[in-house]
Amino acid sequence: MGNLIAIVGRPNVGKSTFFNRLVGWRHAIVDEIAGVTRDRIYGKSDWNGKEFSVIDTGGWVENSDDIFEEEIRKQVLIAIDEADIITFLVDAQEGITDMDIAVAEILRRSSKPVYLVANKVDNNAIRMQAGEFYSLGLGDPWCISSINGSGTGDLLDDIVKHFTDIDESAEQNEVPRIAVVGRPNVGKSSLINTFIGEERNIVTPLAGTTRDAIDTHYRKFGHDFIIVDTAGLRRKTKVKEDLEFYSVMRSVRAIESSDVCLLLIDATQGIERQDMNIFSLIVRNKKGLVLVVNKWDLVEKNNKTVDEYTKLIKERIAPFNDVPIIFASALTKQRVFKVIEAAMQVYENRKRRIPTSELNNFLQETLQIKEPPVYKGKLVKIKYAAQLPTKTPQFAFFCNLPQYIKDPYKRFIENRLREKFNLTGVPIQIYFREK
Ligand code: GDP
Ligand code: GDP
Repeated sequence: MGNLIAIVGRPNVGKSTFFNRLVGWRHAIVDEIAGVTRDRIYGKSDWNGKEFSVIDTGGWVENSDDIFEEEIRKQVLIAIDEADIITFLVDAQEGITDMDIAVAEILRRSSKPVYLVANKVDNNAIRMQAGEFYSLGLGDPWCISSINGSGTGDLLDDIVKHFTDIDESAEQNEVPRIAVVGRPNVGKSSLINTFIGEERNIVTPLAGTTRDAIDTHYRKFGHDFIIVDTAGLRRKTKVKEDLEFYSVMRSVRAIESSDVCLLLIDATQGIERQDMNIFSLIVRNKKGLVLVVNKWDLVEKNNKTVDEYTKLIKERIAPFNDVPIIFASALTKQRVFKVIEAAMQVYENRKRRIPTSELNNFLQETLQIKEPPVYKGKLVKIKYAAQLPTKTPQFAFFCNLPQYIKDPYKRFIENRLREKFNLTGVPIQIYFREK
């Protein structure tokens, strides 16, 4: 299915250092989700041209000595369920502990690829000691040092053998893939039930490669679309759902295999930290976005309420706030149709290809309004622009001194692009390159 690597292991073995190694190098995009115990828990990177994401389970538990073993057990079980590849870190300098044995016992029963990784192998003397981890029953350990980087390349070379080519699998489907995401109880299942309420709308349930991932193909409101990962939403395991780790893992899976995400928020509660975490997952993955303010039936309204809500939401999610915001109710079915219409429009926007001539006309008009500011006495000249041959809208602007173009001007260009071409709901990338 995806290329999602989970890092598990007891506290202090070096999970977070390993995580930074994996996503921190080269042009890696490091995701920072604010507010959790660690600032780095989810990241995206690539190795030999293959994209993957990494989740550090340690980011969700307090890193103290009296940590519940039970807590770690839960994380490991969820990781086995939701990730594609598990890396199990142990500390070669400290040797085997009881908690390592307990975790190994769970992992031995997993059908997913498990990598036993002996970390802190900073030199050969420690490498000799690491042999003892063989007794965990997970084969010979991969010896690495997350601090100096030794061994991590070999490990990744082996891990990528399990990867699927994400781009290839995504291009095979012509039917829009929609993910319904949001924190527990915002109404995800209810919204999906408005589709499956009428069984005849279901064309085929598509079985995923993993036990839980079931995508459903609908034909409704005159549109063809796939709702990804519906099994995970319909099968309610409330206990697990309450763990933010579980809900983020679920969201990651659904978001990564979608084209457009419906992010549900609860109209009675507004946007909270957990909503923002999912929002940033969607943006970092460059997916289309429709914001659905659900449970609108519960809100007391007058003729200003929609405008006020819209303003508040746009402020909260800025700078990427050129997104459709639909006030809906899964319960009364109010505007459920509009939600799907908006998702289809965003899907089209995300595929938008702007002809080079139009883009360059746009550039000339834009430069007439405002040129890049002079920087360190140098004149910055943008010569021409081109859309890159990527799946999502990305633009290159060729100029003499790309390093002198700063964020405000970049935002100015982005806003102009959005005014001129319909890119609503679509995160776009703008690069300045030397020419
Ligand atoms: P976590 O609790 O599993 O996420 O562990 P951390 O990544 O926070 O690391 C715990 C400690 O081990 C920190 O002091 C790290 O600097 C240290 N550490 C991590 N990796 C290595 C390594 O490869 N070699 C050595 N010597 N120390 C390491
Ligand atoms: P999920 O956890 O996101 O899948 O949320 P559910 O679909 O299970 O909904 C959680 C609760 O909110 C249930 O009691 C639903 O009946 C209720 N609910 C969902 N959508 C709406 C809505 O639009 N209006 C109202 N009033 N209640 C809703």
